[in-house]
Amino acid sequence: SHIQLCIHFSSKEESLGQGSFTRIFKGCKTDIRDGEKHVTEVLLKELDVVHKNCWESFFEAASLMSQISHKHLLLVYGVSVHGVKNIMVQEFVKYGALDLYLKRGRSVSVSWKLDVAKQLASALNFLEEKNIVHGNICAKNLLLAREGDPSQGSFPFIKLSDPGISVVMLVILDRIPWVAPEVLEAPDNMTLECDKWSFGATVWEIFNNGNAPLRGCDLEQKQQFYENFQQLPPSQWTELADLISQCMDYQAAFRPSCRSIIRQLNSLITSDKNRKMLCTFIHE
Ligand code: ATP
Ligand code: MG
Repeated sequence: SHIQLCIHFSSKEESLGQGSFTRIFKGCKTDIRDGEKHVTEVLLKELDVVHKNCWESFFEAASLMSQISHKHLLLVYGVSVHGVKNIMVQEFVKYGALDLYLKRGRSVSVSWKLDVAKQLASALNFLEEKNIVHGNICAKNLLLAREGDPSQGSFPFIKLSDPGISVVMLVILDRIPWVAPEVLEAPDNMTLECDKWSFGATVWEIFNNGNAPLRGCDLEQKQQFYENFQQLPPSQWTELADLISQCMDYQAAFRPSCRSIIRQLNSLITSDKNRKMLCTFIHE
């Protein structure tokens, strides 16, 4: 179907900042359905002109997302090509990136974090069944659609965003510890197992309130981290620490299946021993 876009670049307030290779704006799309005009807020990612050589990767990310549909995957409407401008048009997600949300100091409960992890695992399971590699899972690429309020019995709701320009084109050492170690050896050979590693790092990040793992390390220290087969500081919650370390296994073949990840997350939620803790606001 055809979508008419009305894109507002005029007002400076519309700018929402910067991605690794993009400028981010808010806009709206207008489409006519049954003779009626529907206006929807959208998010626009404009590929930086200096990174024009990355457009292929940019298009791949957009096409990947526009071909699949799952409640925890971000809706991507398409890419608008306007002269030299390449603009990805996607669903606008109200509360933005999860890492920033957590870093802003909103106190969320353990069960809130577990819900987010479970939702991400269900998206990952969907991708695994379709044999699709995402390639850039991290808290920055999780968007918060609903905040939820545990006291009212309502849950958060997240959506996994597009992978963006392939991490291979970035300073790949910078993506440690989200990028799986084997990707450094063979950057063009991303597998489903790589996403499991990233999932582990992302869960770590969520439980550490959006603080980046290995923050403050320079690139050389990050590289050494992998060379020495190191692990992120474990959570005091041993079952959670165990799940993260299974995902972040240096041997890709040993990482758990999505079904096993979901099973383990469910048992974290239901086990009696943990039930009391779920209502608390642990800050690790
Ligand atoms: P990368 O490819 O490195 O992920 P990007 O272009 O996706 O880069 P991000 O850094 O992920 O850019 O996102 C930039 C900011 O834009 C985020 O902090 C987030 O708050 C906001 N943002 C991104 N996508 C959306 C969206 N669909 N809805 C609302 N806000 C968004
Ligand atoms: Mg992103």
